[in-house]
Amino acid sequence: MAEAIAAGLVALALLFLVLQPLLLPSPTVPEPYQPPDAEETARGRALLALKEIEFDRATGKLSDEDFATLSARYQSAAIATLAGCAQCGGPMADRDRFCGRCGRAR
Ligand SMILES: [Zn+2]
Repeated sequence: MAEAIAAGLVALALLFLVLQPLLLPSPTVPEPYQPPDAEETARGRALLALKEIEFDRATGKLSDEDFATLSARYQSAAIATLAGCAQCGGPMADRDRFCGRCGRAR
């Protein structure tokens, strides 16, 4: 029984070591590469979400108040995506914290 517990602990330790880089990414390193369609994808997601909540409101699944809250959130996400990097005009997805073109923070 003790051996089984010890083996389990070793397995957990190994699993932690393997997953550690994935679970604890360095916060100082910007994302090294953005696919060219990242902007389109993020914008598409926001616009799709807008269409969905419009449909939900039309079918009575969303209250006007909830719709207003969600609509404002998705619209600001879409606008932020359209705006791109203020410094160089490079494309930025809404999840990006750093510009892929000039490397500056949003
Ligand atoms: Zn930039």
